[in-house]
Amino acid sequence: MTPGKPARAAGVRRSAVALVLVALVGLAGTAMAAIALHNAERDRLTRALGQRTTIISQAISAEVSRYANSLTDLAAAVGAQAELESAEFTAITAGVDRRRLPGATGLSLVIQAPDAQVAALQQRWRQRGATELTLRPTGSGPHRFAVLDKSLDDTGSSAGLDLSRSTQAVEAMNAAEAGHRVTVSRTYRLLKDSDLAPERRQLSFVFVAPVYATSPGAPDSGRFRGWLVLGVRGGDFLSEVVADSAGDRVAVTLLDGSTGDPLPMADWRPEVALDPSAGVRETEVTVAQRAWTLRVEATQRLLAGTDQGLDKVAWLVGAVLTALLLALTATVVTSRNRALRRVDEATAALRDDIERREEVERRLRQRETELVGFAGVVAHDLRSPLARIMGYADFLQEEAYERLDDMQRDFLARLRTGADHMRVLIDDLLDYATAENRAMSTVPVDLHRLASEIARERSGDRPAEVTVGELPTVYGDPTLLRQVLDNLIGNAIKYTPADREPCVRVDCYPVAAGRWRCEVSDNGIGISEKDRAAVFDAFTRVGGSENFPGTGLGLAIVHRIIERHHGRVGVDPNPSGGSTFWFTVPEDARVPASH
Ligand code: ADP
Repeated sequence: MTPGKPARAAGVRRSAVALVLVALVGLAGTAMAAIALHNAERDRLTRALGQRTTIISQAISAEVSRYANSLTDLAAAVGAQAELESAEFTAITAGVDRRRLPGATGLSLVIQAPDAQVAALQQRWRQRGATELTLRPTGSGPHRFAVLDKSLDDTGSSAGLDLSRSTQAVEAMNAAEAGHRVTVSRTYRLLKDSDLAPERRQLSFVFVAPVYATSPGAPDSGRFRGWLVLGVRGGDFLSEVVADSAGDRVAVTLLDGSTGDPLPMADWRPEVALDPSAGVRETEVTVAQRAWTLRVEATQRLLAGTDQGLDKVAWLVGAVLTALLLALTATVVTSRNRALRRVDEATAALRDDIERREEVERRLRQRETELVGFAGVVAHDLRSPLARIMGYADFLQEEAYERLDDMQRDFLARLRTGADHMRVLIDDLLDYATAENRAMSTVPVDLHRLASEIARERSGDRPAEVTVGELPTVYGDPTLLRQVLDNLIGNAIKYTPADREPCVRVDCYPVAAGRWRCEVSDNGIGISEKDRAAVFDAFTRVGGSENFPGTGLGLAIVHRIIERHHGRVGVDPNPSGGSTFWFTVPEDARVPASH
């Protein structure tokens, strides 16, 4: 059992490593896919934000130009009047409304007047149709009064207001007069909005166009008359301008940087959360003589409808795939470990079994050795009483035979046969015991001489043709090898039916690994295939041998002796009838193994 443990521990370690590797590879692949998708998504987002910013910036520029052009046209129309009346102003500005100019609060004609001329100015414009005009000068002059006004929202008329109170408006007016062109003011809160509820107040700005008298018939022809001032609320302006192009996809902030720190003058904030991953785009928008900053931020709807969130899907899919892969690997490694464990258990059981068998075999051998030793001792001890029995039987035969009657003679014959049989058995038993226990001397043995001597001796028993071939000199114990050849040649003659002359042939052939294979072939009764393996067991006599004397020990003795020479024995059918017994012996004393 124990040798399996380290192997199993290594297996568990390998399984753990495999699982960790699979997890790492799965997560790394997922992370890479997710990062790639995330980057691609961010790129798309950044591009989309850039495109939006360009569109919005162009929309604002176009709108500002339209406002400036409209104001220039209106200023030209006002300047073209020889003597401007309130009614003409109303007619000129009739086409101007909030639909055409989103965010506009009102359009005023502004005239400058020093303190001394305020009353005269009010008088003059009342005569020109602004009957309810009341100028409301603030501070010391010169004042800049809105003498005519077209209100474009519900916050009331600006007529009579003194715009000189607003430095931003004054600045823009001065710049317009000096530059002869439309200007835009810095961001501020309109004077007319100071009465509004706080939540309705917005940061605003004004477009200013200089008005010059252009009619040749006018008394002030060619001179500067005043300003046309268009108030615009930043928030309303921005909402109208960017509503379409920004929608709920981006948040837009317009900042006026002309006062130092950029001041957010208008905001477009859809009710959708921002997506900070796209960053913030800022660009400059030229508005008349100044530049505003346009800040655009993506909302989470910027890429709505496209494949956003793919990185999260990739994580999810990757995690699921990794989990599946892990489960699969775990199944494979557990099955493998289980199989390995079973193999370990089976191996251990087999090893136990082998050990048990070896133990049984060892005991059997020990018993057999004891038995053989015992048989040897018994046989040896039986020899002298048997010799005496035979001696007396011989004595009776020789000295008292004449005095015996027939029955006694028959008994004597039976006694002699039994004693003879017993002698053979005792001799065989002693040979068997000797073959097992006798100390061996390994010397060169001339097999040819040995076989020839045996053939000669055996021919005395019964006429037989024994042919001895070219036999070699091999290494072995001469006494034991003599017993082998004697048994085989003796059997070959004995197991040939009495009506046939035994024809025996002894031959040897070199075989692989430095050994000889010697064969003794006969033309005897042969051995059936099923009995061939058993004939070498002690006391085994197979079918067909009933009529032949024997103890069943001869081949067991041969087997023992050849085993001790590290050889093998066997029997094959002789192709020409009968049997061929064979054994192998070493050609050289140094060859140890049996083949
Ligand atoms: P046994 O004393 O009976 O001859 P062996 O061990 O020599 O004992 O032989 C065992 C059995 O093998 C014999 O009883 C016989 O049946 C068979 N046998 C041995 N040699 C031959 C042979 N040459 N031809 C046929 N049968 C044989």
